[in-house]
Amino acid sequence: MQIVVDLNRCEGYAQCVFLAPKVFELHGEEALLYAPAPPAEQAERVRQAAAACPVQAILVGEQAGADTGTGAGADVR
Ligand code: SF4
Repeated sequence: MQIVVDLNRCEGYAQCVFLAPKVFELHGEEALLYAPAPPAEQAERVRQAAAACPVQAILVGEQAGADTGTGAGADVR
C-alpha cells in the first residue's frame, strides 16, 4: 500500500504515531516521518491512523495517487 501525508496539513497531533508506531514517527514537536509504502500487515493500523487524524492529513492507497497494488517490494526510502 501507498500512503502520503500532507505535511502542510499535519499539526503533529501524533494520533497516527500511537496507532501505527511502525509507520509513523514524530521527531521533535512537529516533524513527522513516515514510511510511504508500509508493509501489508500494517494496512489496518494505517487505515485506523488515517481515520483518527484530526486534520485528515493521511491519504491512503488510491487517494495517495500512487497505488501499486500489493506494494510488495515497493521502494521504501
Ligand atoms: S495524526 Fe495527522 S496531524 Fe497528527 S501527526 Fe499524524 S498526520 Fe499529523
